[in-house]
Amino acid sequence: MTISTQSIQPAIELADAERDQWARFKDRLRSNAGEDVYSSWFARMDLERIQDDCVYMTVPTKFLKSWIQSHYVDRVLACWQAEAPGVKRVELSVRTAMRVAAPAVKGPQVERRPDLSAARPPAEVRNTATAPVSASHDALGGSPLDPRLTFATFVMGRSNTLAHAAARQVAEGRRGDSVMFNPLYIHAGVGLGKTHLLQAVTWAGNSNPERKVLYLTAEKFMYGFVAALKSQTALAFKEALRGIDVLVIDDLQFLQGKSTQSEFCHTLNALIDAGRQVVIAADRPPSDLESLDDRVRSRLAGGLVVEMGSLGEELRLEILKSRVSAAKTHHATFDVPMPVLDYLAKTITHNGRDLEGAINRLLAHSKLNATPVTLEMAEREVRDLVRPMEPKRVKIEEIQRVVARQYNVSRSDLLSSRRTANVVRPRQVAMYLAKTLTLRSLPEIGRRFGGRDHTTVLHAVRKIESLVAKDLSLSDEVELLKRQLQE
Ligand code: ADP
Ligand code: MG
Repeated sequence: MTISTQSIQPAIELADAERDQWARFKDRLRSNAGEDVYSSWFARMDLERIQDDCVYMTVPTKFLKSWIQSHYVDRVLACWQAEAPGVKRVELSVRTAMRVAAPAVKGPQVERRPDLSAARPPAEVRNTATAPVSASHDALGGSPLDPRLTFATFVMGRSNTLAHAAARQVAEGRRGDSVMFNPLYIHAGVGLGKTHLLQAVTWAGNSNPERKVLYLTAEKFMYGFVAALKSQTALAFKEALRGIDVLVIDDLQFLQGKSTQSEFCHTLNALIDAGRQVVIAADRPPSDLESLDDRVRSRLAGGLVVEMGSLGEELRLEILKSRVSAAKTHHATFDVPMPVLDYLAKTITHNGRDLEGAINRLLAHSKLNATPVTLEMAEREVRDLVRPMEPKRVKIEEIQRVVARQYNVSRSDLLSSRRTANVVRPRQVAMYLAKTLTLRSLPEIGRRFGGRDHTTVLHAVRKIESLVAKDLSLSDEVELLKRQLQE
């Protein structure tokens, strides 16, 4: 195999040592960046290989790549260097379905890669499977759909009953029906089934020939849809929208930029006013979409806002079972014994994507080595998917108390409007910690810091983020505070 083919092959098997380093790197990055930032930007980053002094990683979209490069590359590098001092560079590339489905990269290594779903048909198959909707969907610039993400494969549990019912209702609506809740806004953390549910709505809606459901990621909305709209006249814009019965937008938290926002607002209003359904998913509630302006946020909050909670153990078990039976349709001899399923459901607690990854690894491993799946093999194969205990929930008062003690000021100083240097910095640190260690929104944090505006909090967070990246002693101080708070 030549070097050049290697560099485009994503399917290099990671050595155990690399896998361990990767797991430690991710833990470090997670605690350094905070859970929110981590899950928004890094949860879908994968390690491709480590070669010489460079770490090669992949992300699923161009947008994530450029965002991480422009905002977090130093931090990513620093976290790597803390694990592997020899690392001098990090490289990010975009992984695509085509890359893995290309005939040239067939072979054992391909199957070994965790997120190459063996249960997922290759891209060519997917395209044929999307044929019934693709004509109208593609013409309008829709994002690709995964034929596996339908209502039939969506497992219901306590955490998603309401979201599922609302999505079903939307999917079954008919042209001209009055719209019950608009927009339908579903939010949940990474890997909890948002995309699955939204694509299920799209598939189901489009099975009705007189309805058009358009599924767009926020990224696609920004770079494709908006551009297409801008090149048309206002009349053509209205005309294009008239053709859409349901607009589905995924990962709204990635919508950025003033002009995109105003196009988004315009589209949203036009559709809602025309009685068309809008369905949105994001990783946080509308009130926490800090970059959106108030008008858009209140419009979003004005429909039905549903949260999907974390997947309970029972639900995880059911999802695993359904993954195994899906895999069996392509690999008849594959089986995962019940004790292994129980083990996976108990230990892989974080998200659905890891559940899928686990099954894929077991499948790859058992096919490659022609051995049945055992508990021992499972423990070894999914080691890095098992997360340490969830960090302790931290309270804002606690943060204020610990920071005040550390910097020798009083808690009321932190809440006061005093602007002397000896209180400004501690206050910023405390706000930064409140943002990174709790799930509170910026406005909420502002309120808890003596009624400050959310932009003040945002400024503080950015300020400390940028200082921490440069100033080692501050970075240590902040690390220490975090540790104290999380103990
Ligand atoms: P999100 O968009 O919220 O990050 P996804 O919809 O991509 O999450 O889900 C991640 C993985 O978990 C997918 O493979 C999805 O099919 C699976 N998954 C999540 N929730 C469910 C569910 N309730 N039933 C079946 N599969 C699920
Ligand atoms: Mg998603």
